[in-house]
Amino acid sequence: MTPRAGGSVAGVVRSAVVREVGGPSIRFLLIRGGARCRTALVARIAGDLYGGKHMRALIFDLDGTLVDTVYAHVFTWQQALAEAGMPIDGWRIHRRIGMSGGLFARAVARELGRPLSKDESDALQRRHAELFEQLMPERRPLPGAVELLRHLREAGVLYGVATSGARPGIDSSLESLGIGPDTVVIERGDVARAKPEPDLFLACAERLGVGPRECYVVGDAVWDLLAARRADMLSIGLLSGGYGEDELTKAGAYRVYRDAAELDDSLDELGVLP
Ligand SMILES: [Mg+2]
Repeated sequence: MTPRAGGSVAGVVRSAVVREVGGPSIRFLLIRGGARCRTALVARIAGDLYGGKHMRALIFDLDGTLVDTVYAHVFTWQQALAEAGMPIDGWRIHRRIGMSGGLFARAVARELGRPLSKDESDALQRRHAELFEQLMPERRPLPGAVELLRHLREAGVLYGVATSGARPGIDSSLESLGIGPDTVVIERGDVARAKPEPDLFLACAERLGVGPRECYVVGDAVWDLLAARRADMLSIGLLSGGYGEDELTKAGAYRVYRDAAELDDSLDELGVLP
């Protein structure tokens, strides 16, 4: 509750205990006053706390959610690991895509039963970035991604991007989506810990100026959904990164859509449109 709202009500009812009840879209102030513990529903404050309207925001993952890069990441990680003497099946890599590069390298090495030093992990990440840039200098937006972002802008719905990737590697992806400097983008270097920790999403919400509970995370991997839960945000899963609907649902997705295009057609289900 904002001090402004709490202060105004407390000024009317002396010795009152004020608390919010109800969901994020409909809130009430419940006032219990004096010894009789009189309870009165005094005000529906949906919107009032936020200057006349509720601010909701969508926070997008990038790879596999907005751009078609997941399988290129799998292939180039596989190649980088093979060069370092760690051959591994592609599907095992796919399960880890979306978490931070450092965590990814250590997790894969653990799976192979081989300890990995910080220097080795850094070298692997550099080699992967190099191979990825060679394989995919130009990025392809996933179906509906560009249109979805345009519709959100036109409707005045806040959105940002929060990715485990880092600049300059993500620059081509952002460019392909028409995302410029006016859009909030939180990348790996902006926070101490990447997904599945919540830091990227929390930093994005803060930059957007909204609370975590007003945000939906949109992602293709279970790591996005785990990080969203840790950030106290609802999440939406997209199938465009290769995870199945059941996995995304089990990981906590509020809704699962095929891709950005289907999400675009379903914005009304989310209650984000004015
Ligand atoms: Mg992803």
